[in-house]
Amino acid sequence: MPLRLTKESIEEIKRQAREGYPLECGGFLAGKNRRVLKKSQRVIARGKAPKQSLVLKAFVYMAIRVRDCFASLAMTLKSCFSYFCRGLNTSGKEITAVYPMKNLNSHQPRIRFEIDPKEFQRLEAEATKDGLQLLVFYHTHPDSPLKTNPSAFDRERAEGLSTIWPGLSWLIVSVDKGKEFQLASWVFNPAQGGFEKEEIEVV
Ligand SMILES: [Zn+2]
Repeated sequence: MPLRLTKESIEEIKRQAREGYPLECGGFLAGKNRRVLKKSQRVIARGKAPKQSLVLKAFVYMAIRVRDCFASLAMTLKSCFSYFCRGLNTSGKEITAVYPMKNLNSHQPRIRFEIDPKEFQRLEAEATKDGLQLLVFYHTHPDSPLKTNPSAFDRERAEGLSTIWPGLSWLIVSVDKGKEFQLASWVFNPAQGGFEKEEIEVV
C-alpha cells in the first residue's frame, strides 16, 4: 500500500528544501496508518464430494468452523498488535502533518542531517497530542549524484533504527540547483538487509 501525501505536504517540504538549499534539510511527517483487515480466505473444493455420513459431515463442518474461529482470532490479535506497534503495519500511511526540523550538523551540513533529540521529543509529543503518529523521516539530497537513492549512511542508520522503529518510511528529496525536485520513499527491510521502494500517491 502506498504512502499518501497531500499536495500541501509536498509543497511544504519543497519550500523548506528551497530555503535551506544548498544544505540538507529534513524532518518528520505524521499521519495515520490505515489498517486493512484481510478476510480469511476460504477455499471451497469443487467437484464430486465423496459420500459422507451425516456425523462425518457435521464433524467436518465443526472442524472448519473452529479453524475459521482460530484464523479470525489470530487476525484480530495480529491487527491489534500492529495497531499498538508504531509503524509495524504499513498497509497505508496517510500523511497529514509536516514537521520540519533544524539541521544540527555543523561539520558537513551539505551531506548530513542531524536531529536535535529535544526537538524530536517535542514534535513527537505534539503529534501524539493531535492523535497522529510519526511515520516518515524525510531529508534532502542537494545536488547529489545519488538523487533519490539512499546513501550508504542512510542505509546504516535505517538498519540501526529498523529494530526499534519498524516500518519507518525514508522519504528522500533530491534538490538540483535548488529548484528541481524529485521524491522517492523507502522502507528498510531487515530480512532483506536493504531498502525497498515504497509507492507514493499524491492526494
Ligand atoms: Zn540521505
